[in-house]
Amino acid sequence: MAFSEREQEASIRHVLSFDIEEHFQVSAFWSSARRQQWDQLESRVERNTLRLAEILAHFETKATFFILGWVAERHPGLVKALAKQGHEIASHGYGHELVINQTDHEFRDDIRRSKRILEDLIGAVVFGYRAPSFSITAQTPWALTILAEEGYLYDSSINARFQRSEKAEKKHGAYEIITTAGNIFEVALPTASLCGIQLPIAAGGYFRLFPYFASKIFLSQLEKAGTQLIMYMHPWEIDPDQPRMDGPLISRFRHYLNLKKTEQRLHYLLRDFSFAPVVEIVEPIRDRIQARV
Ligand SMILES: [Zn+2]
Repeated sequence: MAFSEREQEASIRHVLSFDIEEHFQVSAFWSSARRQQWDQLESRVERNTLRLAEILAHFETKATFFILGWVAERHPGLVKALAKQGHEIASHGYGHELVINQTDHEFRDDIRRSKRILEDLIGAVVFGYRAPSFSITAQTPWALTILAEEGYLYDSSINARFQRSEKAEKKHGAYEIITTAGNIFEVALPTASLCGIQLPIAAGGYFRLFPYFASKIFLSQLEKAGTQLIMYMHPWEIDPDQPRMDGPLISRFRHYLNLKKTEQRLHYLLRDFSFAPVVEIVEPIRDRIQARV
């Protein structure tokens, strides 16, 4: 099917996003000892991210890349290349510390530092932030206020589990949150009901867990219901040859599951659904940015 036909058929354009980090930086394998080794471990993020960009180019699709400041400092050419290709550059913080493990001061330093590094590299404003492992929770009520104070327009970090525990109404796409520093948009991951449990079906882990035909059914159902999908993946999820790390069995299972199949599934996903970056496709955010210019 030609891309133009696919776009005409698609009723909604969705968001595809990537959290750009090294394979050894994931929260499930976090330890202070490993944190000290980061600069000695084999870097694979640039190669894997460029591969993702190649796949996106093949499907004439742009995405949002939430990039760690730590990665941007070591791979400035990667950040510039992604921006030049028309992708949205957003922040994944600096050092991949969970928000719940930081003080409000540490959090402010982390998000300010990453925003500055990225903006200096691309010469443009960074609007979006995603916390490591969606770690903005009820225990960090100050986080969204600090994000607004530091000039972020939107956040995409609120854990679907947190939403459930708060008995929040199911919210998808972007909605506005009022803070003392002004409003900030939350770009929420959609959830799908499976056997009575709400699962963040658009997350990379579930995308690797389920066969593609199952993911497609879930995602199509959400699309038919008018939900704008916010999908996310990591560069290490298309890298079956990455070095294996020690860690809890469950973490190793989750991290290394179906790595060989993900790239092919991403091709299918890009064939079957239409995607664009947050700043282009999420209406209230796009409108706010256009009003600023
Ligand atoms: Zn991350």
